[in-house]
Parts: sequence; C-alpha cells; structure tokens
Amino acid sequence: MPALQRTEAAVRARLLDVRSYSVDLDLTRGGTLYRSTTVIRFGCAEPGRDSFVDVDPSALLRAELNGRPLDPAALDGNRLALPGLAAENELVVEADMAYSRTSEGLHRFTDPADGAAYVYASCGPDLAPKMFACFDQPDLKAPFTFTVTAPADWTVIGNGTSARLGEGRWEISPVGPVSTYLVTVVGGPLHAVRAEHDGIPLGLYARRSLAAELDREAEELFAVTRASLDRLHGLFEERYPFGSYDQAFVPEFNWGAMENPGCVVFRDELLFRSAPTEPQREMRAMVVCHEMAHMWFGDLVTMTWWDDLWLNESFAEMLGYRIAADSTRFTGAWTSFSVKRKGWGYDADQRGSTHPVAATAMGSVAEALVNFDGISYAKGASVLRQLVHWLGDKAFFAGLNAYFARHRWGNAELADFLAALGEAGGRDVSAWADAWLRTSGVDTLRVEVETGADGTTLASAVLVNDGTRPHRVRVGVYDTADGGAVVLRERLDADVAAGGRTPLPELAGAARPALLLPNDGDLTWALVRLDAHSAATAAASLSRIEDELTRAVLWEHARDLVRAGELPAAGYLDLVAAHLPAETAVTIVEAVLRFAADHVVARYLDPAARPDALRRLGGTARTLLDRPGADESLRIAALRGVVATACDPERLAVLDAWLDGRDLPGGVPFDNDLRWSALLQLAAGGAAGEDRIAAELAADPSDTGEQGAARARAALPSPDAKERAWRELFTPDLLSNHLLAATADGFWRSGSEELRQGYVDRYFAQVPSAGERGGAVARALGQVLFPSGSARPGTVRAAEECLARTDLTPTLRRLVSDELDDLRRALTHRG
Ligand SMILES: [Zn+2]
Repeated sequence: MPALQRTEAAVRARLLDVRSYSVDLDLTRGGTLYRSTTVIRFGCAEPGRDSFVDVDPSALLRAELNGRPLDPAALDGNRLALPGLAAENELVVEADMAYSRTSEGLHRFTDPADGAAYVYASCGPDLAPKMFACFDQPDLKAPFTFTVTAPADWTVIGNGTSARLGEGRWEISPVGPVSTYLVTVVGGPLHAVRAEHDGIPLGLYARRSLAAELDREAEELFAVTRASLDRLHGLFEERYPFGSYDQAFVPEFNWGAMENPGCVVFRDELLFRSAPTEPQREMRAMVVCHEMAHMWFGDLVTMTWWDDLWLNESFAEMLGYRIAADSTRFTGAWTSFSVKRKGWGYDADQRGSTHPVAATAMGSVAEALVNFDGISYAKGASVLRQLVHWLGDKAFFAGLNAYFARHRWGNAELADFLAALGEAGGRDVSAWADAWLRTSGVDTLRVEVETGADGTTLASAVLVNDGTRPHRVRVGVYDTADGGAVVLRERLDADVAAGGRTPLPELAGAARPALLLPNDGDLTWALVRLDAHSAATAAASLSRIEDELTRAVLWEHARDLVRAGELPAAGYLDLVAAHLPAETAVTIVEAVLRFAADHVVARYLDPAARPDALRRLGGTARTLLDRPGADESLRIAALRGVVATACDPERLAVLDAWLDGRDLPGGVPFDNDLRWSALLQLAAGGAAGEDRIAAELAADPSDTGEQGAARARAALPSPDAKERAWRELFTPDLLSNHLLAATADGFWRSGSEELRQGYVDRYFAQVPSAGERGGAVARALGQVLFPSGSARPGTVRAAEECLARTDLTPTLRRLVSDELDDLRRALTHRG
C-alpha cells in the first residue's frame, strides 16, 4: 500500500471531523509486542460515505464501527476501510503492535548499562499508525487521552499531564487538539528533574544510567528553557499553549529532537557523556529554542499538508538560532549557522534534487519525508532572516501574531502566512514570496571594482547580483592595520535587484580596501565571489580578520570554491595549514577540520595522497592543542582532530599510549568518546584487533560503547571482518538504527583497494533492498554507507544504473541521487 496521497487526505479532511482519541497501551506483554486499543470519536459531514483509518499492526485483533464488527482480514496494507459512516461515529481498533528498533513508531531500548528497558514514540511524519489506529494527516487534529499499563517501576509521560492511577497504571490527560504526527509517549524507569517558570511546570527526563549527566546538565538546560520561553512570550502575543513543558532525552533517536507538544524528545547524546566543546553546548541550546518555537510553528498552527513543511522547520530553525544568539549565553550562534549549517543548504540547493523552499506538488507523504533537508531547514531559515532584514522586526512579528491569532489550534498554508504578513507590513510580500519561496537555486553576489590611476584608490565599486532574486545586504569594507590585522572600516547597506548592479558611491575616490565582502554579516542566502584583490587578502590574512562571523563567511566561501572545483583540494588544505592554527572560534575549528578531513582528503584526494594530507592536518590540530592559552573547548576540538587524522604507525603509537593512560596531553579529559575514536583509528590502521575492542567494551558497557565497538569492528581491515560487517548491515531486523549507522560509518575506513572495489560492486546491487526497511535504515545504508571515497567513473556509472531502477523508495532514491551528485564533484578533483 503506497503512502497517503495528498488527494486522499484532502477528501478525508473535508469528510471527517475528529472529536477525540482514547488510546490504551499495554506495555507489559514482553519485549516484542504490545497491545494497542484505540477509540476514535468522529463526525462525518456526509453520512453514508465510506472512508478509511490508518493502522499498521503486527496483528489486527478487533475493529468495530458504531458497535458493528469489521473483518480484521479486510486490512489492506496499513488501511482499514470504514464503510457507511454515520453523522457521529465511534471506532474501536484493538491490535498487537511491534516495538521498533529503528526509532519509527514505539521504539523499545534495553540499556546495556543496567538492563533496564525504555520506550518512546516517534510518530512523525507518518509513523503514528505503528502505535495506534488514526486518521494520520496533519489537518485532522484532535485531543488525545492515553492510558498505559506499564511495569511497576516505570514513569510514563506524554503530551499532556501524566498521572499515576495505581501501580503500573498511568493516564495522560488531553491537550490540544494536536496532529497525529506530534503524539508521543515516553516510558521506563526514568530519572526526572523538575522546575517551574512563569507558571509553567518544567520537567527533564532521561534513563536511569544517565541520571548523573541529567543532574549535571539540568541547570544549563533550564536556563536556556527559561530564557527561550521568556523571549517567545515577548515576541508572540499567544502564550505557550500546552500546559506543562517536558523535555525527555531518549536513546537511539534518529533526529536531533522532535517538537511533540508538551513533551519534546531529544537524542540523549545531547546529555554529553564525554566532555563537550562550547559549540556542542551552543548547538544543544539552539535545538532547545528550535523545538520550543515549534510549539507555535507546527503545534499550535500546523501546516495543512507536507508541502508547507517549511512553515514548521524554516521558522523553528531561524528562531532557534536567533533566540540562542539574542537571549542565551551563546551569542555566537549565527557564526555556527554560517560555518556549519548553511553549507548543508547550499549543497542541497546546487544538487539535481533541489526544490523551492515552499515545495509544491508533493503528492504523497513519502515524498515529504525526503524534504527534511538542507533546503527546509538551513535555506528556509536564511531566507526568513533575509525577509526580517528587508521587512523589519516590527512588521515581521506583527504578521506572525496575526497568523497565530487567525489559525490557532488549526492548520494553515503559505497563502495564509503571506496574507497575515502582507496586512501587517504593507509591503508586497507576494512578489517577494514568488522570488524567494517558489524558486530553487542560489544566487551569486560579487563586487566589481575599478582602481584609480594611482592604484591606491577606487574609481568605482558596484555590487553585482548574477541571480534571480532581490537582496538587501551589507557590504563589508576592510583595511589592513599596522601589524597586519584586517579591521572593519564600515559596512554599507545595499539593495540589489535580480540581475542588478548597485553602485557603491561611498567607495568612489576612497582608499582601496584590503577586502570587500558582499553579504558581510551573512544576512542573505547567496554565494559570493570576491574581486582579485579581496581574494588575495582573504588567502593571506583570513585568520587576521577581527570578526569571527566574517571569518565564518569566508571559510564557507572557501568550502564553496573547492566544491565548485574553483579551488584545488591542495589549495584548501594550504588555507587550513596557514590559518587554522591561529583561529580562535572553536566552531570554525570544528567545521574546517571536519570538512578538510571528511571531504577534501577522504573524497577529493587520490588514496595515495591521503596519508600525507592527514599527517599535515593532524599537525595543524596538534598546533592548536599545544597553543598557549587555549581553553578546554578548543583543546577538546583540537584533540579530536589529532585523533581522527592519525593513520601512520608513529601517530597510532601515540594514540596507543594515550589509551594506556601514558603521556596524555594535559588539560583535556581523555574520556569515553575520545577513547573510542582512538581505538577506531587503531582498528582501521591494523594496530588493534577484536581482543582490544572487546576489552574496551567491557570497560564501557554502555550503548555508546556498543556503537563504538560496532564502528571499530567494521573498520578492521581483514576480509573476514568486512564480510561480517557487510552481512550485519544487510540482514533485516538484526541491528538497531544506531548500531547500523555505526557499522556503516566504520566500514570504508580500511581494506585493500581490491577488497573495497568488490564491495562497491556489491553495494549497488544490494542497496535497493534497504528502502523497504524504512527511512532510518535507508539513511544508514543509502547515505552513511555510500562509497563516497571511491570517486571513479565506474562508481558513477554503477550509481547511475542503480538510479535507473524503478524499485527504489523515494527516500532511498533521493539519498543515492544526492550522493551521486557529490561523487561527480569529487571526480572533477580526481581527474
Ligand atoms: Zn524542527
């Protein structure tokens, strides 16, 4: 049965009006199945018509419509027909459901640290029928009541307020109405920390083995939560609408977090078992703010259909960074957006699969899933930032408040948003929306200069827009000061039309700047190209520019140049060697080291050239680690870089000593995550075997330990180890989502060229089967396991032939197609 089609959803939305859901779950029936009994009360606008309910059980036990039994055998895929509806209806569906191991539906996890079991539900975007029978589309919202039978030592929470009715019996009261994709239940012997702010009860939850981490992190999590609530209450006229605000940290989650009303879930890696860098804390703060913004964008007002996914994600993403930057201690969040996040969107926008921010013609929910991408998040947020810069805060937030007031508890689409914004701002937002939201691709901005006869002044400077949209930007004008620092002279505000040229008269006759940067401050969505003199300054003095956001824009520019093939891989690595040792923004250090190692070296260089390049990168990381006055955050980032680039015997011996506790670099904890990273390098380099991995796992018997061991085992170079890893990857239902991703991540890190080539061939023969195993498996096998380091014409051909098949799921097709685009870019470097 195909995924729900938009046309079917529209018919059902016109016909049905859902009054309420009552869902009873029995979670005491073993580790494989649980019992789910749902009562749905709903009206039908045209009595006598038929419809259908979505339910995806292991076994459908009983269904009754208005007291009349329906034949369970009539279940067609995940649909049960509902013939002859009355004006008011009651549907009862009882089923045995299977727990998920891929975080799709009700995920069950047994903690290897202490044997305790936990469950949590992931219902988005179309997984709710794996837990209860429902009309699974965003515009059929209703209040939900849950009753849950659970083991006696469990706590059970959900969207509404949770109450313990007796031993092992819980009730979660309704909030809302809410959409089915936003429903969750979290259960297990949970550790909790509670607080209150502005009349709103706050809760933090994690599994028992992470109690110490939760207690340690609670103060910062609550501080960010309070600051974000206050900020949103200042910006929005509508108060937080879902009663209490719980945040649960759950194992093996597929995403960063999910905005379930009143019960946000986060991946519990965000509790940091190992010492984090400041940018990791900043990222977590941004995610907290992002999910809270969803309480308004997505939860209170929900997109009518998945076309308008951007109405959820672009807004939450923009507000997440903005609130983190404006209202928490993480004032540099926009630097991270520039150097870590925008590239995700720029890459997506230059691939064959790009789409407008406001997508159209999204026929099915399966197509929607592939648009949880760099366009809907990074580009959408950047486009909204440009809108705010163009419109001004006052008009923008007046428009949002009108939108909430009009559509609260309901659904909306692009036209509704534009109407509210247009009335509030008095500007022609529809033309703006046509240019920015309904087209795909990225514009390029540059400054053309003509120097005066003496060579030291400018005769003219013109901001040029080679693209199709209007931009309001700032042009940064920088000079070289005594001592070589590059300092800001001024920032010029400039509007430039689509295909337009805007003179910058302030610069005519002025001293020639060392650097002219279009889109200084990163207020728009555009690639930039520098004039020759500015490009020379950037290459010579990147680390001597005083503003970290400016450096971030220029590092992203360098990333773009090397991806576009306008800068050779060696040129990028020279830039890293010259400027990263003096970099002070840890987020830039992390972004650059990762891109240099994982893309430039691992994809763009020939295998023979990689060891030398990694040695050089490792040297840069070591310089950062040893830099006098480096704080702990920088030292952690640098140490990770040293570990991740170690591949020759000499450096592997250093890691070996560190794992033994000898000669450790001072000032940085060499804790679990670093130990597993070091062991991974040793395993891939043939310097550690199964016995060493087993010993490390015995010392760290946690789930992250199990993932570290799986990654290291897959990285062992022997043919036997590769064969075992491959078998595990392609055996359905064997590994959980995170163990699968870890195994895939380790796989290509070693092995002879001949051995690897054999697996490249097998990959394209076998990967189509991954699609049927669900989205999480498709991502692990279609993306993480894609042979991105094997940029050869033969690999490109094999990927093309794979895409020519007709049996790929939409998710798998998108993943393989995007990886193929990147592979072609890598091939231009390898030619
Ligand atoms: Zn989101």
